[in-house]
Amino acid sequence: MSAYRGRFAPSPTGPLHFGSLVGALASWLDARAHRGAWLVRIEDLDGPRTVPGAADDILRTLAHFGMAPDEPPVWQSRRDAHYAAALAQLTAGGLVYPCGCTRKEIADSLRAAHERHTTLAYPGTCRDGLHGKRARTWRLRVPDGNAAIVTFDDRWQRTQTQNLATDVGDFVLKRADGQWAYQLAVVVDDADAGITHVVRGADLLDSTARQIYLQRCLGAPTPAYLHVPVVVDTHGEKLSKQTGATALERDDPLPALRAAAAHLGLAVEGDAPGIARDAFLLAATAAWARRFGPGTG
Ligand SMILES: [Zn+2]
Repeated sequence: MSAYRGRFAPSPTGPLHFGSLVGALASWLDARAHRGAWLVRIEDLDGPRTVPGAADDILRTLAHFGMAPDEPPVWQSRRDAHYAAALAQLTAGGLVYPCGCTRKEIADSLRAAHERHTTLAYPGTCRDGLHGKRARTWRLRVPDGNAAIVTFDDRWQRTQTQNLATDVGDFVLKRADGQWAYQLAVVVDDADAGITHVVRGADLLDSTARQIYLQRCLGAPTPAYLHVPVVVDTHGEKLSKQTGATALERDDPLPALRAAAAHLGLAVEGDAPGIARDAFLLAATAAWARRFGPGTG
């Protein structure tokens, strides 16, 4: 097996909050438990949502929490040529087609389909041509029948199965605003960085089958996956900037680290008032290793 390489991939839409700290800590602990490399990728493709200075703020907070990346961070906004090359490769393979549907047209046709109690996936309207419409997005053709079923064994969530044809349909690789779709960027970035293990929030569980299919189409290896339970607010919604998550206290990292470890179900041996940050992280790494380290697989 190739040497372990993991990553944390925050969106710089604001300061690091507790929900994203849990993802950062889980991926960092897994890398340390495997004596591997831990990288950070700034997912700043969504220009309008990106807050100036937020990425540097997140990196500073991670450092204060004892988690500094082992290599310089990668910025998605600087990797346009790599995504274009991947789209060209898929297009040359006949796997991509232009779609002229607007969001409203898709919603209308999905509503009609829903009333017939059939699929909610993109209905494939443009598979056989644009029918005189202008190309808006570029979609990846997903297979029909059994070939559409993607199964993977998640290290936390266990066996996962998704039927790409019925659950998702042909999905967007390049959006109507000209921006690269999240799924394409993540797959290209993970492959280029040689990522062997993806550890992230379970809100991305639903994206994983699409990413595995894209890896296969591009001839890229599939990493091991581990999806940790997301942190929810009192309304049961995922904690985010939008749901009012507050920024972390940078100068006092232990309470938040302790809460994040507890969210991950870790029994950190030797934790006591006054424990040093790095001693806590070392003990947390041992706790993670007992559950998810080499040989526990
Ligand atoms: Zn279409």
